[in-house]
Order: sequence, then structure tokens, then C-alpha cells
Amino acid sequence: MGQDNFTPQKRSSSGLPTTTGTGTSARAASAVRVLPRGRQIQKTFNNIKITILCGFVTILVLRGTIGVGNLGSSEADAVNQNLIEETNRILAEIRSDSDPDEFINGTQSSNPNVTYTLGPKIGNWDAERRRWLQSNPEFPSLVNGKPRVLLVTGSPPKPCDNPIGDHYLLKAIKNKIDYCRIHGIEIVYNLAHLDMELAGYWAKLPLIRKLMLSHPEVEWIWWMDSDAMFTDMVFEIPLGKYEKHNLVIHGYPDLLFDQKSWIALNTGSFLFRNCQWSLDLLDAWAPMGPKGTIREEAGKVLTANLKGRPAFEADDQSALIYLLLSQKDLWMEKVFVENSYYLHGYWAGLVDRYEEMIEKYHPGLGDERWPFVTHFVGCKPCGSYGDYPVERCLSSMERAFNFADNQVLKLYGFRHRGLLSPKIKRIRNETATPLESVDQFDIRRHPVQGSSGSHS
Ligand code: UDP
Ligand code: MN
Repeated sequence: MGQDNFTPQKRSSSGLPTTTGTGTSARAASAVRVLPRGRQIQKTFNNIKITILCGFVTILVLRGTIGVGNLGSSEADAVNQNLIEETNRILAEIRSDSDPDEFINGTQSSNPNVTYTLGPKIGNWDAERRRWLQSNPEFPSLVNGKPRVLLVTGSPPKPCDNPIGDHYLLKAIKNKIDYCRIHGIEIVYNLAHLDMELAGYWAKLPLIRKLMLSHPEVEWIWWMDSDAMFTDMVFEIPLGKYEKHNLVIHGYPDLLFDQKSWIALNTGSFLFRNCQWSLDLLDAWAPMGPKGTIREEAGKVLTANLKGRPAFEADDQSALIYLLLSQKDLWMEKVFVENSYYLHGYWAGLVDRYEEMIEKYHPGLGDERWPFVTHFVGCKPCGSYGDYPVERCLSSMERAFNFADNQVLKLYGFRHRGLLSPKIKRIRNETATPLESVDQFDIRRHPVQGSSGSHS
């Protein structure tokens, strides 16, 4: 805004006197030498009139092109001030929006004597779903021989504490839309708290359950945090590997069972099969979630039992680890703890190595050579308090976004000027016969070809 105001004002003050002023005074000077005195005065008078008229017209034109707000800096400041005040007023209104029902729901289920449930107990989902699929053949759970996958993500219903957080939410959803479009996956973005008790990181539980029940045609629900980005646009989850499993989550069995570490698994990116087992696991997972006393007290149990866990309220990740540890025999047979590729990749060890990866490897690998997902754990770009300096988080997110976006832009013949630059440049000449080469840009049809040259 400041830059915009400055440029036209500069142009109007230097441009106006130079063109009209210099031009008329040069002509008047040459007239002095040849004309008699009376005509000279008349001529000078006419010149002054023309100068004033030109000035007036110039001002009118400038007013029309630049706009009233840019004429005087005090006027512009006043308009700016109004805009800022109006924006702040709207933000304050959205943030303070209080719903009387929220309180009623809160007191109802916060009762520590009543075990919290996600909804009415469902006991026959596998048979019900099978019957639905049989009577709705137009919605098959297998499409072209592949299980139907729904990617689910979301963020808080209100604006971020810091506006830059909203910008990175936008970049992160753009990144997910690109991946899903390239690989034929459907996507849901949720901004609502389906259950006020499970606000925050617990919000994914009621959402996953609701989507399973509302989309019986979907075989796998894939949750991904808003602060996780795809950084390998070619890699595909090897779903065939998980035929006998119902939950696929990134982690390390030794950290889980030997060390009982609170970071043995990561709940930033995982897949649930749409089945009775998953509904049961969600029911067993949710009771530590209700905010207030229950969540606070459960946090103490988790900190006492999990290695390395700081003292804070119960979070969904610790609660899942604790559940799988304490009821191992009941659940683990159907849980696939994946670490052969980065279904979740911790950002701090990855974002500084992108240049090295570009030099040595290519997309499609998904592991430490070219991570499938980079997750900004602890950055909280939408909140106020993260575990890392905000500048480091934001520049790392920018790098991850551009690293991935280069793989998308390459399909169209462009790339970013650098990993920190939103600007792009052309990497292929335009062609008069675009359809002759369109096939080679489809990274699904030629995963290795499409990926191997992405850095060259
Ligand atoms: N989330 C949501 N609604 C909310 C708050 C959080 O859907 O009101 C989601 C969001 O996708 C976020 C995730 O929950 O990324 C988990 O929180 P966060 O990523 O901040 O936790 P971390 O990965 O840092 O442990
Ligand atoms: Mn996260």
C-alpha cells in the first residue's frame, strides 16, 4: 500500500511542471525577441492561460487514474486507518463469537463420571456397509482396481492469531489439492468443530467417524494435519501392502514397545480402513479428549507413563500410543507401523537437505532421499505459541512448499526461481503442437520418467 501511494505521487510532482512548464516557457522566450510589446503581453497572458488549463487537465487525469485516496498522504492514511479498524472489528467479532449451546454441551459431557462417547454405539458396520455397497454399485469401493481413498484435513474455524498463518494454511491446502488431483484422490477440508468437547488436535476423531459413516464407498480415510505438506508429488501409498491391516501410521516399534516414547507414532498423517474395527478403535481412543478436567487429568496419566512427555493436557497422539501400549493384544494385530517411507516426516531433519536431495535423487522415492510428507510438528503457524522460532518455521514451510510446487509447475513448464522464492521462471519453450508431448507430463502414467528429470 505504501509503495503504491508513493509511486504515483512522485510521478505527479515531477511530471507536471517538467512537461507543461518547460515547454511553454521556452516558446515564450523565443516570442520576446520578435513581437511588439502589446502583442508580447497578450501572448504572455495567453501562455499563462494555456499553462493553467494544461495543469488543470493534468490534475483531472491524475485524479481519474490514481484515485482520490492516493492524492494526499493524509487522505491515504485516513483510508488505511479505516480499513485496518474495520478488519480488526470483523476479526474481533469472529473470534469472540460465543454460542450458548456450546456451554450446554460442555457441561453435559464434561461430567467425569460419564464416559465420553463419539456417538451412538454402532456394532454391525461391516455387514451394513457391505449391504450398502451391494445395493449401490454406482459407488464402488474399488475404482480401477484401487481402493477408494478420501484425504481429510482441516483447521480451526476462526482466523489464525497471526494473519501469516492463514497464508500458510492456504499454501498447505493448495499443496494437498495438487497431490490429490494428480493421483485421483478425493479431499475434504473441515473448518467446523463437530463436537465442541473435542476441539483442537482432537477434532479429527469425530470428523473421521462421521466421514466413514457418511461415505461407505470410501475404503480408506487418510487424515493429514494442516501443517503437513506433500513433498514427493510422485510417490503413492502402497495400499496393497496393507490388505490385512486397518490402521497405517508412521512410527517405530522399538520406540513404542521398548521405550514407550511419546513420539513413537505420529498422528499427523495416518490411514483408517472404513470398518467396524476402526469405529471401535476411535471409541476407545476418544475418552481422554473432552476438554477441561478430563483432558487435564488424562494429561497427567500420559506424562507419567510415556517417556519424554512434557506435562500438558492429553493430546491425541499420546492417547493413541498409551492405548496401543496398554491394550496391545486387542489392537496391534491390525496396526501397521510404517517407517519404510515418510508417511509423516519430521521437518527439522529434512528441510535443510532439499538441495542435496535435488542434486542426488528424484521424486518417487518417498523416504529420506525424497520425503513423501514433511510435517511441521510444533510450529503452530496458525496459533501464537510454537516450540520453534516463528521465522525458522515460516521459511522452512516456504521451502517445503516450493520444493513440492516445483514438481507440479514442471508439468506446465515452469519452476520457482529458488526454494524461498514465490516467483517462477519458464523451463520449457512453448510449442505450437502441445498435444504431442502432453503424455510425458502426466506423472501418474510415467512415474519414473516424470520424476527423474525434475531437477535437471
Ligand atoms: N485441527 C483442526 N481443528 C482445530 C485445531 C486443529 O482440524 O480446531 C487440526 C489441524 O489440521 C492441525 C491438527 O489438528 O494441523 C493437529 O494440530 P497441530 O498440527 O497444531 O499439532 P502438532 O502436529 O504440532 O502436534
Ligand atoms: Mn501437525
